[in-house]
Amino acid sequence: MKKSTLITELKGVGEKTQKLYAKLNIKTVGDLLADYPRDYETFAEPVKIAQAPREEAAAVYAAVTGILSEKRAGKLHILNLNVSDASGSLTLTFYNMPFLKKTLKRGGFYIFRGVIHRRGNAGVMEQPKIYSPEDYRKLTNRLIPRYSLTKGLTNQAIQKCVKQVLSLYDFGTEYYNQTILKKNNLIPEREAVETIHFPDDYDALIRARRRIVFDEFFSFLFLMRKNREFCEQLSNSHPMMETADTVRFLEQLPFPLTKAQEKVWKEIKEDLSSPCCMNRLIQGDVGSGKTILAVLALLMTAANGYQGALMAPTEVLAIQHYETITEYAGKYGLIFRPVLLVGSMSSKEKKQVYGQIASGEANLIIGTHALIQEKVQYASLALVVTDEQHRFGVRQREHLAGKGNTPHILVMSATPIPRTLAIILYGDLHISVIDEMPADRLPIKNCVVGTAYRPKAYKFIAGEVEKGRQVYVICPQIAGDEEDTEGSPVLENVVDYAEKLRNALPPGIQVAFLHGKMRPADKNRIMEEFAARSIDVLVSTTVIEVGINVPNATVMMVENAERFGLAQLHQLRGRVGRGKHQSYCIFVSGSEKKDTMERLEILNKSNDGFFIASQDLKLRGPGDLFGIRQSGEFSFRIGDIYSDASVLKQASDAVDELLQEDPELRQPENALLRVHLSETAADSVDFRTL
Ligand code: ADP
Ligand code: MG
Repeated sequence: MKKSTLITELKGVGEKTQKLYAKLNIKTVGDLLADYPRDYETFAEPVKIAQAPREEAAAVYAAVTGILSEKRAGKLHILNLNVSDASGSLTLTFYNMPFLKKTLKRGGFYIFRGVIHRRGNAGVMEQPKIYSPEDYRKLTNRLIPRYSLTKGLTNQAIQKCVKQVLSLYDFGTEYYNQTILKKNNLIPEREAVETIHFPDDYDALIRARRRIVFDEFFSFLFLMRKNREFCEQLSNSHPMMETADTVRFLEQLPFPLTKAQEKVWKEIKEDLSSPCCMNRLIQGDVGSGKTILAVLALLMTAANGYQGALMAPTEVLAIQHYETITEYAGKYGLIFRPVLLVGSMSSKEKKQVYGQIASGEANLIIGTHALIQEKVQYASLALVVTDEQHRFGVRQREHLAGKGNTPHILVMSATPIPRTLAIILYGDLHISVIDEMPADRLPIKNCVVGTAYRPKAYKFIAGEVEKGRQVYVICPQIAGDEEDTEGSPVLENVVDYAEKLRNALPPGIQVAFLHGKMRPADKNRIMEEFAARSIDVLVSTTVIEVGINVPNATVMMVENAERFGLAQLHQLRGRVGRGKHQSYCIFVSGSEKKDTMERLEILNKSNDGFFIASQDLKLRGPGDLFGIRQSGEFSFRIGDIYSDASVLKQASDAVDELLQEDPELRQPENALLRVHLSETAADSVDFRTL
């Protein structure tokens, strides 16, 4: 059995199950093995009721003392039981399980496991799992994997499938050479993969995870170094000169560039006119004003008679850029002839745009990543700017270049990573930092609160809307049924929450929702309506995280803030505070655990992305195994650039040493690694150079 074997080859995976797995992006055995548990459940020893923690999973050993109540609410049957031990008593609530009245014997002792919610002074455990003491003992002191689920696919089913694969899969011979293995203290791949799914204990799990994270970083960094080698030898096939256009534009702008923007603009100008091809990253916190630099670079390109392209990760963002630039062009008489290229356009419209690009009639192409890279024939593409979330491989570059004249590349990122990490992760780029905000900004006012604060928050939101302002509300889920949330706080979802808000806010306030699974045309429409102020409150998933600029929005409320990484929350917060009005950010935590609140407090205290990233790093030590995923351009499967920073450094050193000793991986001891890396490379790097 190999990585590419389809999961339908497995026993028990038929057409129906295959479809469920497809929803989780699992098609092959390799996908399944790389579907690492999202966390692990430990079945701790039962505790006394009086000592049981609140708002987290716990087990109690207690006797059933009686039925408190039994009622029906529509289709729902609700059964409340009372249980107690020597220390106290507890209410258990069961939904649609009327048979328990008979199966649970009064006076009988059972183990009940679930989350205990506070209700006044008493505790209530909802829908607990019930075990006999013998059954429970078998589960204690082990780590049980918990996978991401989809409706119809249970955790047990996935566990069984993974077990089956582990017994049949051929891991082959280790691909790292002995030096790398020993020096970095890596356990064999087979052991790592087996252990990460079914760990014997916590220490073993940490070792397993470390090996897998190392692998992930190692191949990424190796490919990036190869990319750098390739880029460094590219000469400037589109040399440019500064013209009056950019000078005039800057004079007409209603604001002066900040010192930091000015410095970066100078660096860009130098790159574009130097003998080498530009490869630059602009790193600047949300709201620091990166777009204007992109516009300047594109304007210089157009003024020199070339084409430029601006790529955005989402259609909504592409449209926004298109509108901003078209407006600038009109207002300041810029020489742009812009076209928009997004997926929701009809094929007829697209065809027309392709024609304008090929003929050179269009000198600025704005669109989503995929479209700008596919199928398009450029007349004279000299500069590609990517906004958020993209890296270039050699092949993509060649693809864009068409006839072999590679364009300059400018990457803009708001992921605030400390400089030491940036040097490793962006090793193939020159880095410019915008470390200063425009002077006219009022700092955002923040608060971190529990769910009980909601009524106040809604009142506040209504007040801001009254003043003519707009509001974002973020929820982690799209609809209510995506994930099993047993043992965790309730996750809010966009669809239900929008309804809830419509009821909670005064009539007349327009509430709409937005999420990633909507049709692109619908998403665009909603965003346009929001930008045009016909929507007051936008309830959304994190799709609006990247780059949206609606300066009239002044409130960002994030539900289940505990589910997001600090860097991501900071990105979300960056959607407000973009205009002259005072802005506010309300982080609502579904969990009031101490460490959760402490983590969120960091956001409360600081509006500085780099500071937040470094604090996050400090708080989440290496012990934080499956911390919250950070979003952003570094979407490693399990590695986290912050909490795994030390592994990242080791992998980086290992790659450097390997490239020194055997740059082309020609030695026999590296033959398997060469095969492994070229398989991993896929389309990111051209391995003809290997
Ligand atoms: P980001 O860096 O997050 O992409 P934007 O480029 O969208 O930020 O800029 C945010 C807002 O700040 C925009 O409305 C932009 O016009 C404005 N802006 C940019 N530079 C300055 C400046 N030097 N002074 C005042 N406002 C600025
Ligand atoms: Mg931006």
